[in-house]
Parts: sequence; C-alpha cells; structure tokens
Amino acid sequence: MDDKSMLMIPGPTPVPERALLALAKHPIGHRSGEFSKMFAEVTDNLKWLHQTQNDVLILTASGTGAMEAGIINFLSRGDRVLVGCNGKFGDRWAEVAEAYGLSVEKITAEWGKPLDPEAFRDKLQADKDKQIKAVIVTHSETSTGVLNDLETINRHVKAHGEALIMVDAVTSLGACSVPIDEWELDVVGSGSQKGYMIPPGLAFVSVSAKAWEAYKTADLPRYYLDLEPYRKSAGKQTTPFTPPVNSFFALQATLKMMREEGLQNIFDRHERQKNATRAGIRGLNLPLLGADDCASPAITAVAPADVEAEAVRSQVKKRFDIALAGGQEHLKGKIFRIGHLGFVSDRDILCVLGAIEASLSAIGYSNFTPGAGVAAAAKVLNQ
Ligand SMILES: *Cc1c(COP(=O)(O)O)cnc(C)c1O
Repeated sequence: MDDKSMLMIPGPTPVPERALLALAKHPIGHRSGEFSKMFAEVTDNLKWLHQTQNDVLILTASGTGAMEAGIINFLSRGDRVLVGCNGKFGDRWAEVAEAYGLSVEKITAEWGKPLDPEAFRDKLQADKDKQIKAVIVTHSETSTGVLNDLETINRHVKAHGEALIMVDAVTSLGACSVPIDEWELDVVGSGSQKGYMIPPGLAFVSVSAKAWEAYKTADLPRYYLDLEPYRKSAGKQTTPFTPPVNSFFALQATLKMMREEGLQNIFDRHERQKNATRAGIRGLNLPLLGADDCASPAITAVAPADVEAEAVRSQVKKRFDIALAGGQEHLKGKIFRIGHLGFVSDRDILCVLGAIEASLSAIGYSNFTPGAGVAAAAKVLNQ
C-alpha cells in the first residue's frame, strides 16, 4: 500500500497537514510587506520557543549551517576551544572548528555515555589566563540518544567568565527546556527538520549580547554565514538573501501550533513518549544504548544483542513502511534508533513498538512475551 509511510527518524521529522498545506501556497516576495508581517510573527514565536530576548536569526541552511555560523562569527584564528565529543555531532563541531584553524581540545566520552561536566570544570579552572574562548556542546547527541548535562557544563563555563557557551540544540529545542536567557547561553543552533515539524531548509541561531561583543574582534573568514547582515535585515523584518519563503509559511503554521500546545505540554509529551518508548523496548527484552538518566527526549537508541539491528530496521521498513534510523560510524549495524521528536503522537509510539514486535517475530527473535512491548508503553502513556 502506497502513501502510508511513517517517519520515526530523528530528522526529517513528520510534518503536520497545516504545514504541508502552507508549503503548497504561491511564493511571495521576501521584500514585500506581507513577508515582513510574517517574518515579525515568526521571529516573535521563535523567541518564545527559545525562551529568550536574544536575537534568533533565520538562515537558509541545515542545522550544520547554524552551528558553523555560530562557530565562525565569534572566534578568531588560533582561539582555544573545548568541544564535547561523545557522538557523531560533537565530532562534527570539532571538525568545523579545526577547519577554521581554531585550537581544538576535545573532551570525550564513550558513545552512549554522557559528557562528564567535571572534565570541563577541570580544563576551565586550570585556564588562569583565560585562553579558552568557547565551549561547544551538543545538548542532545542524536547519534546515540544521549542528553548531555548542559546545565552543569554551562555552570562551569559561567564560573570561567570569559568563554562563550555554544550549543547544538538541534534535537533538544522543542523537545525539552533550553532556557537560553536563564542559563545565559550565548549561541544556540537548531534546524527546521527537527523539533520545528517542517521540512529541511531553515536553520536558527540565537546570539547573546556577549557573543555580539566578541563578534567585533572575531577575524575568521565568512560571507554567506556572516551573522551581522542577518541581524541588520531582521531589524527590517526580512533576510539578507532570498529565503525559502514557503518554508516560512510552514514555520508560521507550526509555531502557531506549538504556542497553542504550550511549552510545558510539548516538553511533557516528549518526556512521556521517551519513557513509553524505553519501557516498550525493555518489554521486548532489547537492550537500550544509553542510561535512563541521560536519555534524549527526541530519540531512543536500541542495541540488540541476539538479533541484527539492521534486520529489524529493514523488516520494519519493508513490512510496515516505518522508517527507523540506523547507527552511524562504529555503531553502524550495532544499533537502530527510534525518533520521537516533533509531530509525534502517543498513537505513533504504540504503532512503532507493535511494528518492531511483529518484525522481531518475523525474523525469528522470540525472547519476549507477545504484546509485552506495547503493554509496557501503554502503561506509561496511561499514567
Ligand atoms: C540533525 C542534527 C544536526 C544537523 O544536521 P544537518 O544535517 O546539518 O541538519 C546537528 N546536530 C544534531 C544533534 C542533529 O541531530
């Protein structure tokens, strides 16, 4: 049966009908009054979602573009930066920083484990002459389903006083609280195909006053991702370059939906679905990759021992047309990942667990009581 596919990957995420219909509208000019009106509304709602009064700039890029912009606008060649690396995305920010000639020090943890805030504290405390200019942390490490303890790491950054805190919030923003003003986060990047519930194409970066101060002396080369023109244009309710205007229509629609649902309800929903997913997987006697106390609200990684992860994934796709994500790098073939980010309902969680159970049976894994996965998830969802 066609046209019944279901995305349970951590991006692109499912798109609600209101946003799909908005995408189908005739484009409008990005220098028109109509666009400016929409831009103003969208920016207001983005600040609400980001819990900030800082600038939230909108780029035509994927999430990586937002992070690259964050890294290259506020730093200078040779600057020392600490990068948290416990998965694919942390490693990527180290690569970006290295590509621009920054002096990168990685703080690593095993994939599937959270970053140790003490390791950041030790480096920051030892830096008496304030050479560390930025600390770059991936909040929700999508490659492993681990949520890093940003709050504690950031507290150590604040104690240092000089370093900027730059955050990849691509799969935490819109899934759990990222209180930018309360925590004084300087640079926070995210992308439209994740918690925003619209297709790929837009990226967002919030910038603090402290970061703008650093901008004045930062000397890395930049043009398309130079954030000053974005700030200047935002003051005139537009973008410096032609944006995907239809994505703006869709974003306008989904931000409205988010405001209707309310921030706390959105976070609670992600928490509940995360817990239900984990309970369901446990009900099937499949091991989870990360521990409960550092589980990402957006994605659950499963590391099956007695059955091939890729066999489960391909069966779920072939038989039920549900897309799950595989593992990356050395976790390829070792794990599969269930995305529960954005436009995901409780029904979707029961559905994907039921499909996983049926697929496990089909490929000969029977180390569970029939129905135990869905039953365990339903119990959590009913609480
Ligand atoms: C998806 C994602 C990104 C951005 O990836 P793009 O492909 O550039 O959009 C960055 N960080 C994390 C943690 C992600 O999940």
